[in-house]
Amino acid sequence: MTDTFKHRGLRQKLVETVKAKGIQSEPVLKALGKIPRHLFMDSGFLDHAYQDKAFPIAADQTISQPYTVAFQTELLEIKKGDKVLEIGTGSGYQTAVLCELGARVYSIERQQELFKKTSKFLPKLGYRAKKLIFGDGYKGLPEEAPFDSIIVTAGAPFVPKALLKQLKIGGRIVIPVGDDVQTMTLIIRKGQKEFEKHDYGEFRFVPLLEDKN
Ligand code: SAH
Repeated sequence: MTDTFKHRGLRQKLVETVKAKGIQSEPVLKALGKIPRHLFMDSGFLDHAYQDKAFPIAADQTISQPYTVAFQTELLEIKKGDKVLEIGTGSGYQTAVLCELGARVYSIERQQELFKKTSKFLPKLGYRAKKLIFGDGYKGLPEEAPFDSIIVTAGAPFVPKALLKQLKIGGRIVIPVGDDVQTMTLIIRKGQKEFEKHDYGEFRFVPLLEDKN
């Protein structure tokens, strides 16, 4: 678990790349510059950790592309202390970004192998989510609702109603919606039954699957 001068240099270059692609939030860029992404990846991909690309992790899943992580996080407009629900813990990289921004993070993962691995790994780096849960994110986390924001990091065929219900009034959900290709979608809860939807172009994610595994 080492983070060298070389890693830090490559990371700064990655931050510049992500910035050049349009990410403006300084706290988000700072978080990307701080988190040792190479430690979230399997050894076979270490050399690639600071490319702006998604890579395979365990259980046939992927660690999201840094630009995508930054894009989704920027849309959430996190404030320190916000209660945030993440669906799709995966490697824990996005979880770490949320922790860096001072969010209180609840994160659900449906693959037991990843849940176990990431639950052990994140605290070693000093990232303490409020709760990591092995479960099905389609259901959200009703016992901890409402949330200031919800981020879904897998491609959802539709927006699960349970998640909309668990948003605070004024809260935001960022979710990629679609089957083969997903449209990045931001929904802001304006009132008890009022939701405002914004679309932000195409992305590709592994699918949001039902049940746990
Ligand atoms: N944020 C992660 C992305 C991992 S890929 C990272 O950057 O590493 C998406 C993850 O969502 C996978 O780990 C997958 O197992 C998980 N997932 C898919 N469907 C899910 C569901 N219904 N509930 C919770 N997690 C789910």
